[in-house]
Amino acid sequence: MTISQLLADAAARGARYLDTLSNRSVAPAGPAVDALSTFDHSLPDRSTNPAAVLRQLDEAGSPATVATAGGRYFGFVIGGSLPAALAANVLAAAWDQPAGLVIASPATAAIEAIALRWLLDALSLPASCAAGFVTGATMANFTCLAAARHALLQRAGWDVEAQGLFGAPEITVVVGDEVHVSALKALSLLGLGRDRVIRVPTDAQGRMRAELVPPLNDRTILCLQAGNVNTGAFDPIAALVTRARAARAWVHIDGAFGLWAAAAPARAALVAGVEYADSWALDAHKWLNVPYDSGVAICRDEQSLRSAMAVRAAYLVQGVEREPSEYTPELSRRARGVEVWAALLSLGRSGLADLIERNCRMAARFAAGLRDAGYEILNDVVLNQVLVSFGDDEATRRVVAGVQKDGTCWCGGTVWHGRAAMRISVSSWATTDDDVELSIAAMLRVASQIKAAR
Ligand SMILES: *Cc1c(COP(=O)(O)O)cnc(C)c1O
Repeated sequence: MTISQLLADAAARGARYLDTLSNRSVAPAGPAVDALSTFDHSLPDRSTNPAAVLRQLDEAGSPATVATAGGRYFGFVIGGSLPAALAANVLAAAWDQPAGLVIASPATAAIEAIALRWLLDALSLPASCAAGFVTGATMANFTCLAAARHALLQRAGWDVEAQGLFGAPEITVVVGDEVHVSALKALSLLGLGRDRVIRVPTDAQGRMRAELVPPLNDRTILCLQAGNVNTGAFDPIAALVTRARAARAWVHIDGAFGLWAAAAPARAALVAGVEYADSWALDAHKWLNVPYDSGVAICRDEQSLRSAMAVRAAYLVQGVEREPSEYTPELSRRARGVEVWAALLSLGRSGLADLIERNCRMAARFAAGLRDAGYEILNDVVLNQVLVSFGDDEATRRVVAGVQKDGTCWCGGTVWHGRAAMRISVSSWATTDDDVELSIAAMLRVASQIKAAR
């Protein structure tokens, strides 16, 4: 097989996979998962031809995947892949560019810089912000908080990159009680400690209670959240960002999916004031619907981000252009900016706004359909997240398991303020109104079967 035939075969298999996705169970069938054992043999001594490698991957791998790329996957917060982004991913894989260095990859460096400019524009963030293209919001939180750590300690006369944290002036980190675990992980990786934080109590929707935020100063990092992973709720950003700026505290926004609300005019009020923060963590693999993995660490002060991330070595040529590796923890990495660029170009400003708005309206439709059937919606559905209870905790847990087994759609379970809930996250361009109706019908069918059986 020539490389051309091989790639055509891969494309055909990929297309067939996507074409048949809506006809199969969203969760993979048990026997398909069991058949993953075909992969489980020792490293062969002899080579296998590429066509056979691909065939095995497709025949044994594809059926065992979860249909997250389809229109009826509502677990966690997992977007699909826009056609343009997926196709760009395939071409960029053929390029195999190390995206960290301009001299090794001028094309991806240029495209990434444009993607960043468009992102800032779409989200109404200051055009002068700097950013790194990282694996996801966890690393975006890490990267932004490293910039914050640099800035605050530099002000105090301490070079944290050189000196480390032993003996450094203290930094106070303030988070909401509903802080995402990945922000705490980022703090732990940075030596700031996941428990060495002030946790501000939150309200019924998981929003930080602004009146309970302690006094802030120029040695404080205030971590706010745009988009609670359960409810979709937003911390009171406008009120707090003004206070924090007056105190010269650093405001970091974990906006993994919620920050995308800024791109949809009808939802933008949710993130009012967000442009006054100092740093923002964003996921592109969630609501921009690019393939995994893709996050963006955005920072108002370019110098703080570069000071925290850049490395110098004689063989790393220093040009005048933006060196991608100076903004990320990684040196070598894949060219994530290419897919971000492709997604934004294919959607345009209106397409992006429509994607966000459409998913939010679908979430509202889920809530209405389930509420009309007598089930309780536990959150204010302001974005794309819905929490539903099907009665007592046991009933809800059974419905979640039943929905997953039924296979029409997939939703995960959670516990919200002590109550079991099913969590619906609508985050994909591929979800149609029919998908929503089919899924509501499946949920109601499963719920009444479980009710009848008790
Ligand atoms: C998903 C999410 C994260 C973590 O993102 P990854 O891309 O999985 O690293 C962080 N914060 C929030 C609010 C999220 O929703």
